[in-house]
Amino acid sequence: MIIVLNPNIDATSGSYQQITSYLNRFSEVQIQSHQVQGHQQSLTELYLLGNTKQLSLEEISGLEGVDRVIRISEEYRILGRHQDQQRLTGFTYNDIEFSQDSCHIFAGLCAVDTREHVEIMMRALQSHGQVCTRMGAYKPRTNPYSFQGHGKECLPWVFELAGRFGIKVIAMEITHEEQIDEIQTALAKTGYPTGVMLQIGTRNTQNFELLKAVGRQTELPVLFKRGFGVSLNESLNAAEYLASEGNSRVIFCLRGMKGEGGAPHRNMVDFAQVPLIKRLTRMPVCVDPSHSVGGRGRSPEGILEAVHAAAQGIVAGANLVLVDFHPNPSVALVDGPQAMLMDELPQFLEDMAACHEFYQSRVAIWAQ
Ligand code: PEP
Ligand code: MN
Repeated sequence: MIIVLNPNIDATSGSYQQITSYLNRFSEVQIQSHQVQGHQQSLTELYLLGNTKQLSLEEISGLEGVDRVIRISEEYRILGRHQDQQRLTGFTYNDIEFSQDSCHIFAGLCAVDTREHVEIMMRALQSHGQVCTRMGAYKPRTNPYSFQGHGKECLPWVFELAGRFGIKVIAMEITHEEQIDEIQTALAKTGYPTGVMLQIGTRNTQNFELLKAVGRQTELPVLFKRGFGVSLNESLNAAEYLASEGNSRVIFCLRGMKGEGGAPHRNMVDFAQVPLIKRLTRMPVCVDPSHSVGGRGRSPEGILEAVHAAAQGIVAGANLVLVDFHPNPSVALVDGPQAMLMDELPQFLEDMAACHEFYQSRVAIWAQ
């Protein structure tokens, strides 16, 4: 059971004390207090564990300071929506709102290679009014002899360039908990010119120790990728590890599923699950067309199949698109063949904005 307190009530309020002393009468019930940060406000929620059957929903709803009471019917205790349409979704980071209503494009390099490429990318983003990007410094590679990313060495200049070009959030994958410190140190040393959203890659979806470490820090939000070989339920439970450790600023990213079903695409696109994840959880949902579709196949109208996939995600209500671009894919050190080109950026952004508007008109049609 979750008790959502009125917005002005926190642990120091008189009503909070009264509510907890009422609950303390039930010895088999444990209380956990959580501060839930939405993009517009912060709320205190009390999670009641143990034998909650003896509690009366009506009685608790009537206590002063209680906004409403939710019976938890599903898993994902903190990140779950629990059939409550009013639950806060998302968060604000570095002045950017990420919620189940927002829409942001994270176009950028799969892997940071040269300063020149990073600069070309960021300059182009700025000239098109973009404030988010993706930049891989730590790359989890299938082959141990492949380029593993420039690691911490590149962080200071990547962050400085981001600051110069007005980038506010960089999605950056980490593969080991020590990299959290490396990123924090580089941000501090460069004077926080930008922000970082820690990306958990599909290969680490169930790396629970990494998830716990990322969850223990609350400064940097998380872009969590669905596991490519496990069920959605398992991936959502894994995301809950972050929240259970304290960090509920989590975005859930679909990136396709392994298997022959999607061939010749790199993976089977799973973007039909965007609305489902929004129904089950409070997380903003991201789609990654580059890693799901892979390659640069085009439909007869001349549109890249990855762009079609991104459009499908946005039209279904996705809140972010994570997409690979590169100024010169033939020399990219990772995933060049699936990268979009710089001169495709304006059309891509225009297409995604049109798709988001179309999604909003769909919502209006069904609200009638
Ligand atoms: C990536 O986004 O660079 C990446 C490696 O993606 P995934 O974890 O989905 O394979
Ligand atoms: Mn990649």
